[in-house]
Amino acid sequence: MQNHFIIELLGIKDRHVDVWSISEQSGIFIVELDTKVKRQRCPSCKGITKRIHGYRNQIIQGPIVSNKRVQIHLRKRRYLCTDCQHTFFERLQMVDHYQRCTTSLQTTALTYAAMGSFTTAARLAGMTTNRLLRLFDKRDIKKRIVLPRTISIDEFKGDAGGERFQTVIADVENREIVEILPNRKVETIMKYLQSCDTGAVEIVVMDLSKSFKQAVKKALGDPLIIADRFHYMRQVYWALDEVRREVQRDLSKTDRIRMKRSKKLLWKSPYKLSEDDKKKVRELLAVHPRLEAAYELKNEIDKWFKESDETTAKEGLEVCLKAMEASSIESFREVSKTFRRWKTEILQSFVYPFSNGYIEGVNNTIKVLKRNSYGIKDFNRLRNKILWHQEVKQIMI
Ligand SMILES: [Zn+2]
Repeated sequence: MQNHFIIELLGIKDRHVDVWSISEQSGIFIVELDTKVKRQRCPSCKGITKRIHGYRNQIIQGPIVSNKRVQIHLRKRRYLCTDCQHTFFERLQMVDHYQRCTTSLQTTALTYAAMGSFTTAARLAGMTTNRLLRLFDKRDIKKRIVLPRTISIDEFKGDAGGERFQTVIADVENREIVEILPNRKVETIMKYLQSCDTGAVEIVVMDLSKSFKQAVKKALGDPLIIADRFHYMRQVYWALDEVRREVQRDLSKTDRIRMKRSKKLLWKSPYKLSEDDKKKVRELLAVHPRLEAAYELKNEIDKWFKESDETTAKEGLEVCLKAMEASSIESFREVSKTFRRWKTEILQSFVYPFSNGYIEGVNNTIKVLKRNSYGIKDFNRLRNKILWHQEVKQIMI
């Protein structure tokens, strides 16, 4: 009974494995296991045999139990085929060929690796990081061939495989990452799309990137392209930020720090500000008329963005564009140029308002992944880690 419990604790599913002895040596549990004789099928001629040829002791790493490492000493049997004289080791589920840790420990370590860093996962499972990495790299995470109705194309700074940016293709409606591409080149995205079954793709959501648009048009013909709301609105905030930084430079150190800390306060919609915050904003704006002008422009665009619908968005956008073009602020004039180039796609985002949640969900996943995968230089490893993380997370929920 007790032995059975230990077998279970070690995650061993082979029924003919038995505990021979347990001891503790310098803080490590040593579990000696042996196997019962079992009919074997010869891997060479498929004949059946029970004839023992010899034994071999194999040392295998087990899981951590009560904060102690477990070392398994397995007495493995070698059989002799009476038909063809071939000798072979018995096959066991608990340990893969040539591996030095149990199958269940591998699974545990790989699951940890999906949620945290490789180093932490290796430590929790009681193996070296290098061993875990070897295990991890050996696994193949399959590419999804059929693309869904709505995909998004986005970039993220993964710094892997010698490229600063990688591309992520996501299923917008199911909030799922579909694939990670090694860079954001037109060629790469195009080839990827062409390698998939894209028959169902109708809508592509993307940031305002020329190369994404080019790749999509070349590979998919003429799908509906929607500019991602977060991405285009971000440009407005950045334009305001540019003015803030510029104004900030001429301030005294204390005022500079105060201004720097108020970045998010200036980004907020005015109606969301408390009385106290409103006062702070007024003080900040009093520093320079340019900052005030930039703030007003931001608010105007923010209002258009939040209050427009399919029928009013176009007219409202034109008003915002004219206001930016008439302004003397370079950063906003740049935004207006970009918005003009992407006008159709921006307006589509009002026709198909994929609730922010969809995109936000994907964006958040990417953020988490960036944190988790920080410092992974090998592209395939980065890709596999991202997709593996998603797979494990879906099982755990
Ligand atoms: Zn044989």
